[in-house]
Amino acid sequence: MSKCRKCGRTLPERAGPGRKPAYCSPGCRRAAEYELRRIQRALEALEDEHRDIRLNWSQVFADRLPLLEAERDRLETRLRELLDDDTETHA
Ligand SMILES: [Zn+2]
Repeated sequence: MSKCRKCGRTLPERAGPGRKPAYCSPGCRRAAEYELRRIQRALEALEDEHRDIRLNWSQVFADRLPLLEAERDRLETRLRELLDDDTETHA
């Protein structure tokens, strides 16, 4: 049983070949695209800050690095949920 990647609602099973729908509605698909762009921007900002601290401020702000890494992992997990494609088979 697959679920809408945006709101989590159960999607109707569709018989036959073809790509399974990932979202329950066009609204959820659009909202997911918007969320993806926001996540990408947030990840870029995190990576820039992480690099800046590593290169320039490691003596002062080193304790921020694990926080930035945890946030990056959280965002990447969500990114994968949104992007995961249905060619993957769950046996
Ligand atoms: Zn939905």
